[in-house]
Amino acid sequence: MNRVDSMTAPAPIVTPATPVVSPGTLPATPTDGASDLDAIRAVVRDSLAPLTLKIDEGYYPAEVLRALGAAGTFRQHLASQNGRGTVDIQAALSAMDIVSQECMSTGFMVWAQDVACWYIEMSGNDFLKETLLPKLACGAALGGTALSNPMKYLAGIEPLLISAEETEDAFIMNGTLPWVSNLGADHWFGSIYKVSGDEPRDVMAMVNTSWPGMELKQLAKFCGMEGTGTYALSFTDVRVPKTHVVGDPLLPYLKKIKAGFVLLQTGMATGLIEDCIQLCEAVEPRFAHVNCYLDDRPDELREELEDARELIEALSADVFNPSTDFMRSVLEARLLGSELSLRAANAAMLHTGASGYLHDAPAQRKLREAYFVAIVTPAIKHLRKELDVMAAA
Ligand SMILES: Cc1cc2nc3c(=O)[nH]c(=O)nc-3n(C[C@H](O)[C@H](O)[C@H](O)COP(=O)(O)OP(=O)(O)OC[C@H]3O[C@@H](n4cnc5c(N)ncnc54)[C@H](O)[C@@H]3O)c2cc1C
Repeated sequence: MNRVDSMTAPAPIVTPATPVVSPGTLPATPTDGASDLDAIRAVVRDSLAPLTLKIDEGYYPAEVLRALGAAGTFRQHLASQNGRGTVDIQAALSAMDIVSQECMSTGFMVWAQDVACWYIEMSGNDFLKETLLPKLACGAALGGTALSNPMKYLAGIEPLLISAEETEDAFIMNGTLPWVSNLGADHWFGSIYKVSGDEPRDVMAMVNTSWPGMELKQLAKFCGMEGTGTYALSFTDVRVPKTHVVGDPLLPYLKKIKAGFVLLQTGMATGLIEDCIQLCEAVEPRFAHVNCYLDDRPDELREELEDARELIEALSADVFNPSTDFMRSVLEARLLGSELSLRAANAAMLHTGASGYLHDAPAQRKLREAYFVAIVTPAIKHLRKELDVMAAA
């Protein structure tokens, strides 16, 4: 099955309606993180695992994402929604890790949904906090983030691709983006655009895929991550009401969200690495006598994974630290996640041998997923550039 078959509406999606979220909010359910993690494990076992191969081949699992949302997956980091009243990046990472062990395509969509929530939670926008955020946090609404291009723009790698004209109560957006994930009809995503005028500035807002002028196109077929609802976006005079702005002025807002945005991605990496280690361990009884000649043995990888987990947990507890040293450590942790993912997936291939090379083998899927950890923004080359610039400053 390819992605088109799995969509709720065929691409391109152009609908005249202007869905503006209604004020009826869903209450935050008091919860302790541990019982949520048990519920998430159950959804992964019962609903996600039977679909993993289908997702790898292009099925967008909206129903699984909604079930994960109902189990509490997307609210863990949100003080306003998790029932604990504190930002808890570590709990969100634990949830993403559990999902990514089984299917990192879905783990990536958990990240996309988590950061869409994060954008609103960290904003001063009470309207979106009361309306859209509760729906995204429980999976009743789905969405993601179009921040790869802006992050590369801010790191001096490429120009900003979306521009906008300002009116009294809205921004009129134009431009195209090559790929944004966890999308479909009536989905939401965070977007940054350059506002023209006497004093041009950059602004960030939440945008709906079904607003007039939005078009989603499936232009590419990827070697992995095919079930992630990934589309090229075209904006033609898309009217974004000012009620949907989350960052204006942008830079102080980005400073607040950046560490969380980057750290949250490490849950994909740790989950993937964990499962690669388990694949290596599973063949030890049969192949230890010869696999012992390989590099990156499972016990070595596990030690490095545990060290990485400890580092990420410490950083997660300090996510609003404004210092450059802290941000450097966050970028280094994200880089470590990419590098260790590549090594662990390579080890899974070599340790499992021909059985890992079969068409439906987990090892070869993990290898393709690991390369995504390494190329999704901030990619390894992007991280090394930012770290280099920091070192030179
Ligand atoms: C499966 C998948 C899902 C993604 N999901 C998201 C998402 O949800 N949100 C998001 O913001 N970004 C998303 N991206 C983009 C991703 O984060 C990276 O920006 C992308 O992988 C390229 O990163 P890079 O730094 O390696 O740039 P490079 O690959 O070196 O590319 C440099 C520039 O050229 C552009 N480019 C390269 N090839 C093409 C092409 N065939 N057509 C058009 N432009 C091209 C790139 O986008 C980039 O801007 C996704 C990419 C993939 C492959």
